[in-house]
Amino acid sequence: MKRLGTLLLGLTLLGLACGERDTTFVTIGTGGVTGVYYPTGGAISRMINNKSETYKIKATVESTSGSVFNINAVMNGDLEFGVAQSDRQYQAYNGLAEWAERGPQSDLRSAFSVHPEAITLVASEASGIKAITDLRGKRVNLGNPGSGQLQNSKDVLSAVGIDEEEISAEYVKAVEAPGLLQDGRIDAFFYTVGHPAGNIKEATSGRIKVRIIPIEGPAIEAMIEARPYYAEAVIPRDFYPTALNEEDITTVGVKATFVTSKYVTQDIVYAITKEVFENLDDFRELHPAYKVLSERNMLEGLSAPIHPGALRYYREAGLIEHIDPKLVVDQAG
Ligand code: GLU
Repeated sequence: MKRLGTLLLGLTLLGLACGERDTTFVTIGTGGVTGVYYPTGGAISRMINNKSETYKIKATVESTSGSVFNINAVMNGDLEFGVAQSDRQYQAYNGLAEWAERGPQSDLRSAFSVHPEAITLVASEASGIKAITDLRGKRVNLGNPGSGQLQNSKDVLSAVGIDEEEISAEYVKAVEAPGLLQDGRIDAFFYTVGHPAGNIKEATSGRIKVRIIPIEGPAIEAMIEARPYYAEAVIPRDFYPTALNEEDITTVGVKATFVTSKYVTQDIVYAITKEVFENLDDFRELHPAYKVLSERNMLEGLSAPIHPGALRYYREAGLIEHIDPKLVVDQAG
C-alpha cells in the first residue's frame, strides 16, 4: 500500500512537472487600445497560438503605457516581449534619455522591426495652430511617462527652440487625448503611432474640426541629421478624410520594433520569429500600416543585439546576410 502511495505520488508529481513543462506562457506588452501596437501584439500572439500544439507556447497581450514601459518591463522580467519604438530601443541599449541614470540596458535584445511610426501632432482648428512653432502658450499633451512619444515631443519642441515651460503641457495617455481635444480641454496632442490609427481617426472625426500639423523645416531637418534614429516620414492625408488637411503631412518617423531580453529562451524567440516571418503575407493584410513590411525592412532599425533565437531563424532562412554584423553577438551573449 505504501509503495502504491509512493508510486501514485510520484506519477502525480511527474504529471505536474510535465504539465508545467508542457506550455510556456509569454506576455507581449503593447500600448493603448486605440494605437497600432495593441493589434500588432494581437496579430503576433495569434500566429504563435495557432501553433500551440507544435511549440507549446501560449502568448497573451497586455495593453500598456507604451515603449518605455515595455522595455522596462521586459528588462525586469515582468514581460517576455514588448513592442517599442526604434529610437527608444537605441536609447535604452545605450543608456540615454529615460535610461541615463540607470545606464545601458545591455540585456535588451531585439527580434525584428514592424511598421513605421510617425510623430503625429494633432491640433484643433480653433487653436489656430498651423505649424509646430505655433505651440507656444498652448495646452498640449506631450505624452504619458512610459510612452514613446514623450521624448519625441520634447525633441521636436527643443529642435524648434520651444521650451517645455513655454507651453501648458499635459502628460496623459494617448488613448485619452482625442476626447480632451474634442472637449476643448487641450489644443493639441502628440502621438507617435503607425497610420492609419484608430486614435487619430477618433480625433479627426468628432464635432470640432482638427488638423494634423506638419513637423518640418530646417530645424527639424537638422535634428534628423543629428540623431541616427529619426528619418523623414509622410502621413497620407487620405487615411484621415475628415481632417482639415488638403495634402499629405510631412513629419518625423521611427519604427515599431519587437524586443525581448537575453533571459528569454532561444526556443521561444525562435518560434515567434519564425511564425511572423513565415506568415508575412497574411500579416501584411491585417492592418494597412503593415502593407510596407518586407523581410528586409523588418531587419532594419534595430540597435540592441539580435536575440540568438531570432538569429537561429535568420540563419535557417538565409536572411543573416541582411543583418548588421554589429547586432550578431555570440550565442552566449
Ligand atoms: N509609439 C507609442 C509608444 O511607444 C505607441 C503607439 C501604439 O500603441 O501604436 O508609446
